[in-house]
Amino acid sequence: VAAPPILALEAVHAVYDASILALSGVSLAVGHGEIVAILGSNGAGKSTILKAVSRLLKAERGRLTDGRILFEGGDTASLSPGNLVRRGLVPVLEGRHCFKSLTVEENLVTGAIGRGSSRTEASEDLARVYATFPRLAEKRRLAAGLVSGGEQQMVAIGRALMGRPRLLVLDEPSMGLAPKVVETIFDALTELNRRDGLSILVAEQNSAVALRHANRAVVIEHGASVLAGTAAELRARDDIRAFYLGLG
Ligand code: ATP
Repeated sequence: VAAPPILALEAVHAVYDASILALSGVSLAVGHGEIVAILGSNGAGKSTILKAVSRLLKAERGRLTDGRILFEGGDTASLSPGNLVRRGLVPVLEGRHCFKSLTVEENLVTGAIGRGSSRTEASEDLARVYATFPRLAEKRRLAAGLVSGGEQQMVAIGRALMGRPRLLVLDEPSMGLAPKVVETIFDALTELNRRDGLSILVAEQNSAVALRHANRAVVIEHGASVLAGTAAELRARDDIRAFYLGLG
């Protein structure tokens, strides 16, 4: 019997405030060791999918109304966001939430708390984050509010890595960043995927970058998954490029 995917969404429907329909039929799966991109225009529902996956919809007065989300084959409906983090599903949500007055290193260390890491584990994990993002090592004693936007995104990802994720869930890591910085961040994610087998689900409006780094992608339109394929398939199809991905 094949192992279940690390994450599966089955015909997921969700609403906000019990009235605004946000998701109306999203199905997708992330296999172990896969990078899957969620593509789609502004407001298509990408962030809502990631919040549903991370069990964070309730904080925005949203909820699932139909369908199931399975992590490691088990329904997540009764799990809290913290439960999921401890099981290895760690989100990095939009806006690269850093504690701006804490130092870069203090921000990273907060990522070890949710997981309950020992001091030794936390210092090993910190060394690994610095190996992944050497710029953070150079700036570790600076307040996070004083480093660049790209470095703040690295801090947000680094903090998630301190939780030893098995599935990293990222919302628009490229947002507002220069192309070179976006490449650095995606290269680091690809390296973590190849080296450690980290599974990644990433929502991106920048479909060109996402399709260069992902194994597979799902296109979301008006809250529903309308298209899925390997990144190579989606890159190759001109109609898809023009219509869904804005790549002309
Ligand atoms: P973006 O890239 O702009 O974040 P998105 O694809 O992530 O777009 P969502 O943020 O998931 O899209 O939004 C999907 C729909 O849900 C939109 O119509 C949006 O207005 C609505 N929505 C999002 N968040 C909330 C909220 N907290 N309360 C009510 N409606 C919301």
